[in-house]
Amino acid sequence: MIRIRQLKLPVEHSREELTKKAAKALRVKPEDISRIHIERQSLDARKKPELFYTYTVDVEVKHETQVLKRAAGPQILKAPEERYQFPQMGEETLSHRPVIVGMGPAGLFCGLMLARAGFKPLILERGGPVEERRVKVERFWAGGGLDLKSNVQFGEGGAGTFSDGKLNTLVKDVTGRNRKVMELLVEAGADSEILYQQKPHIGTDRLSQVVACIREEILALGGEVRFNTQVTDFIMEQGRITGLVAGGTEQMEAEAVVLAVGHSARDTFETLLARNIWMEQKAFAVGLRIQHPQTMINKSQYGREEHPLLGAASYKVTHQASTGRGVYSFCMCPGGYVVNASSEDGRLAVNGMSNHARDGENANSALIVTVTPEDFVGDSPLAGIAFQRRLEELAFKAGGGRIPVQLFCDFKENRESRQPGDVNPQFKGGWQFGNLREVLPEELSRTLIEGVERFDRMIPGFGRPDALLAGVESRTSSPLRIVRGESLESSVKGCIPAARARATREASPPRPWTD
Ligand SMILES: Cc1cc2nc3c(=O)[nH]c(=O)nc-3n(C[C@H](O)[C@H](O)[C@H](O)COP(=O)(O)OP(=O)(O)OC[C@H]3O[C@@H](n4cnc5c(N)ncnc54)[C@H](O)[C@@H]3O)c2cc1C
Repeated sequence: MIRIRQLKLPVEHSREELTKKAAKALRVKPEDISRIHIERQSLDARKKPELFYTYTVDVEVKHETQVLKRAAGPQILKAPEERYQFPQMGEETLSHRPVIVGMGPAGLFCGLMLARAGFKPLILERGGPVEERRVKVERFWAGGGLDLKSNVQFGEGGAGTFSDGKLNTLVKDVTGRNRKVMELLVEAGADSEILYQQKPHIGTDRLSQVVACIREEILALGGEVRFNTQVTDFIMEQGRITGLVAGGTEQMEAEAVVLAVGHSARDTFETLLARNIWMEQKAFAVGLRIQHPQTMINKSQYGREEHPLLGAASYKVTHQASTGRGVYSFCMCPGGYVVNASSEDGRLAVNGMSNHARDGENANSALIVTVTPEDFVGDSPLAGIAFQRRLEELAFKAGGGRIPVQLFCDFKENRESRQPGDVNPQFKGGWQFGNLREVLPEELSRTLIEGVERFDRMIPGFGRPDALLAGVESRTSSPLRIVRGESLESSVKGCIPAARARATREASPPRPWTD
């Protein structure tokens, strides 16, 4: 295959026009191209309202070697082979099957890959299956009580199930793993465009079906999933994990345990600390969600309020504030909703989600500011959690148990809002006006105000008086790090935290467990 980069076409074009453009670049006839595979498609809006797609394509063509020799250049090269390779099997045979704690994206994909490799993993998930969880979350948003085991953070599919399902990542794809995840999602029912779109997304409505499909494959391959099963303790002997306790009483033997508990399993982190697993404080970010009419964002990004082919537009903004802190948009949800994403009684956290069609009235994003261990009280690895909890308690209080909301003009003036302006509130979960200045530390509030005013110069209307703020956005990433070594294990042998790669190479897993 030959890779061609930087093929530019107006967004309204046919597949034939793309083939013709590729043929022209290679100086061959369109009929000589037998297959064209889109590797990447990105939007070029620099000349809006004229909009273009820029493509990277891999092309199968007659007489490939000669064509490549003739046409090769910076934008035309041999297509690289980027196949993900499952790590080589190790030497030891496991006497127990691997256990995965948590069935969010990390646990789900770990379970699927291990099941496909013949390991028949056991997955323990504190929440319910996705179908049951959906019902509980909808009930909570409608005003029912919070279920501490199945909510927006916990349950099959993890925190991302009620999300925008954005799939872009800043993690470089050195081993082809990112691509592999996309392929697995397509196999499980996601649209194949996610394989090449610059900003792929699935949407809450589709994600739950995809998650259930992956679970079914794990089961069909001999894996086991136990829902409503919380791991409450870890049994260790001489620096190695030997078992787990589930639900406070049930003991099970284990020698390879993947900790895929996500960033909100605060009770589990407390247990891990009590068991002397090495953890450390880390920086993360907190802030507020902001809502604007989607048509306003479209106008700024596309040069018009609606675009039938492109759908709802997104944005990314960042600013270094005079307070010395950076403020930036995060987890932008075009055509989406701000949701109550709480997981503890008396504490309130928000996040954003959208459906596949991204057809909600508003755009929302988190506007967040980095906080570091210097902002926390004390040296405990759990100090970041205490910081989050404090903000979530204040948010709960500010909204009387509902999502606290404030117009941007009132946030600036440190006063409660009385009624919405032209931005029509789009929430999942009850909301009421509250003063968000009482939730965030003053320095963070000032940083956010400066950020919004700066972003108004990039996106006209961003700082409009009636832009709707809601809080608190506190679960942006983990507030602590479980330290891992070169083998990807924690300080306790056999206990492997799933997280963004820190160690540099893939470890060799042991050979499959057999019964
Ligand atoms: C509303 C919302 C929208 C989001 N939108 C996006 C988005 O569009 N794109 C994106 O990339 N990211 C998004 N995120 C973030 C994303 O969800 C997380 O980065 C991702 O879920 C992390 O995956 P994980 O598997 O590491 O952990 P999690 O998804 O947190 O999963 C951990 C799982 O472990 C379980 N668990 C915890 N402790 C135990 C225990 N002791 N025993 C048994 N089970 C346990 C939990 O119930 C949970 O299901 C969003 C998050 C939220 C809340």
